[in-house]
Amino acid sequence: MLKKIVLLLLIGMLGCTAGSAQQTWDWHITGGTIVDGTGAKGYQADLLIRADSIGFIGKVDADTISVVHTIDASGKMVSPGFIDVHAHGNPVKTPEFHNFLAMGVTTILLGQDGSSPTSASLAEWFKEVEAAQPAVNIATLTGHGTLRQKVGVGKSAANQQELNRMERFLEQDLEDGAFGMSTGLEYVPGLYADEAELLYLANVVGNHDRIVMSHVRSEDDNKIEQSLEELAMQGEKARVHASHLKVVYGRGTDRAGAILQQIQEYREQGIEFSADTYPYAASYTGIGIVFPTWAKTETEWQQTMDERPEVLRSFLEQKLTQRNGPGAILFGSGEYAGKTLQQAADLQGMQPVDLLLQMGPDAASAAHFVMNEELQDSITTAPGVMVSSDGSPTMYHPRGYGSFAKIIHRYVKEQQALSIEEAVYKMSGLPARTIGLTDRGVLKVGNKADILIFNPNEVVDNATFSQPHQLAEGFGWIWVNGQMVRKAGTFTETRAGETLKKKL
Ligand SMILES: [Zn+2]
Repeated sequence: MLKKIVLLLLIGMLGCTAGSAQQTWDWHITGGTIVDGTGAKGYQADLLIRADSIGFIGKVDADTISVVHTIDASGKMVSPGFIDVHAHGNPVKTPEFHNFLAMGVTTILLGQDGSSPTSASLAEWFKEVEAAQPAVNIATLTGHGTLRQKVGVGKSAANQQELNRMERFLEQDLEDGAFGMSTGLEYVPGLYADEAELLYLANVVGNHDRIVMSHVRSEDDNKIEQSLEELAMQGEKARVHASHLKVVYGRGTDRAGAILQQIQEYREQGIEFSADTYPYAASYTGIGIVFPTWAKTETEWQQTMDERPEVLRSFLEQKLTQRNGPGAILFGSGEYAGKTLQQAADLQGMQPVDLLLQMGPDAASAAHFVMNEELQDSITTAPGVMVSSDGSPTMYHPRGYGSFAKIIHRYVKEQQALSIEEAVYKMSGLPARTIGLTDRGVLKVGNKADILIFNPNEVVDNATFSQPHQLAEGFGWIWVNGQMVRKAGTFTETRAGETLKKKL
C-alpha cells in the first residue's frame, strides 16, 4: 500500500516537472520567498502558472520546462492576493478598482451592512458585473435590510408571513451564489429587527452552510458586549461574523482584551464566531449614526424638529460630547466635505450642535474619530481577527486605499507586532476559509492564480484623512486569475476579475 502511494507521488511529481517538456507554462516566478497564506513560515521556491491556476510550487529546473514568461522574484515575497471580506463599491460603475489592487487586494466581498448590491435579482446582477469586466474578483452577501425592503416590512419586527417571504428571497440569493447574509442593525431598516427575526433568518443561512456577517446593533463602549451576544445567539444556527470590530469611545488594550475574550468564549462553546477590522481609529458612515433611533429617517427628523427640537438638540449635544466633540466629525460628502463639524459651524457662525440639528440625519457622510488607537491596535494584531477595508474607491476615508498596505507597513515593519506570515494569513488564508472560498487565499497547486510579488519594506499606505485617495505602493506585480494586471508597479490594461458564486 505504502509503495503504491510513494509511486503515485513520484508520478505526480514527475508529471509536474520532468514530464513537462511538451507542457508550456505561462509564468515562471523564480527565486522568491513563498508566503503561502496559511501562516506557515515562508520558504524559497519557484511557482508556475498555467492559464488561470497555480500549476506547481517547488524547485524548477528551468532547462527542462517550456515557459512563456519568467519573473525574477529574488529578495521578494510571493503571496496570495488579499481578500477583503468587508468592502464597498460598485463594480458596474467603477470596475477598475485600482484602490484595491494597489494595496494587494484581488477579491472583494460586497453586499455589506444589510444592503445587497442590487434590489433586483442577484443572478442578473452577476451578469451585469461580468459585462463590466471588474479588475478584482467580486463576491457578495445578500443584505437583510434589502430583504426587508423587498417584502415591505415596516418599522417593526417582521411577522411570520413577512418572514416566510423574506426566507424565499434569501434562499433565492443563496442559490444564486451569495456567500451569506449581512445585517446592519445600527441602521434603518435593520434596527427594527428583533431576536426572533434574526434567528429565523440565521437558521436559513445555516441550512445552506453560509455565514451571517453583521454590523452589530451598537459598537458603543457600553453596548458592544450585548451586541456581540445578540450575534452569538444567531451563532447557534449559522456561522457568525462581527464586521469591522471596534469599541466606540472605549480605550486601552485591556478593553480590547475583554472583547476578544468574549469572542474566544463563544468559540469554546462551539459557536463559529469570526471578526474583521480595519486599521484606522476613525469610522466612516452617515451622520445619521449620531441621531437617535427615533429621528434616524428624514421624516422622523422633520417631525421631531416640528414637535420637540429641544429634546433632539440635547440628545445630539450629549452624543457629540461622548463621541469626542465636533472636531471629531470630518465631513466626507455634502456641502462641508473636507471640513470638521466644528469648522463648518464656525463658518456658519453657529453652534456645532445647531448645525447638526439643522442638517438632519441624511445630509452627509463623515469620518468619525471615535476610536482609540491603542485599543484598535490590539484588535488588529489579535490572532484570528482578519483584515478588511470597509472602503471603496470613492469614500472619503483612507481605509479604502490603505488598509492592507498599512497592516504590513505599520504592524509588520514599524511595530513588529506581526510577522509577515501572520499578516498575510489575516489577509488571505483566514478570510478565504471564513467565507468558504475554497480555491483562493492560499498558494497551492490547483488554486486560482491570484498572486502578489512584493518586498515588505517597500509597502507603504499613502492615503491620509486629508488626502484619502492616494494609492498604496509596493505591490509591484499582481496576477488575477493567472493574468498579469500590474507589472513593475504599472497597471496593465487587463481586467481579469471574475464573479465568485458560492455553490450549493
Ligand atoms: Zn458597517
